[in-house]
Amino acid sequence: MDSSGPLDLRCGRCGATVDGTRHTRTGYVVGYYLLRTGRTEEASVRRRDDEAPITYRRVLEPVDVVSCPRCFDEPEVRRLWLRFGNQP
Ligand SMILES: [Zn+2]
Repeated sequence: MDSSGPLDLRCGRCGATVDGTRHTRTGYVVGYYLLRTGRTEEASVRRRDDEAPITYRRVLEPVDVVSCPRCFDEPEVRRLWLRFGNQP
């Protein structure tokens, strides 16, 4: 079993090893972007019987996608991010 070192994060697109975000005195440097995505299904909740149900997308199998800053600038990654990135 290989247990050397902390997490070895790699970009899911180009395979480059990425560093964690480094905090500095003047701010921080983003080493990679983490996108949580996965298979989703439509689900609905109804809080009260006389209310219309609220439909939302439920993530069934969360998958963490790592992207290096360079790939994050690619349009296809941006699209993916916009679709999934802001889900709670
Ligand atoms: Zn990359």
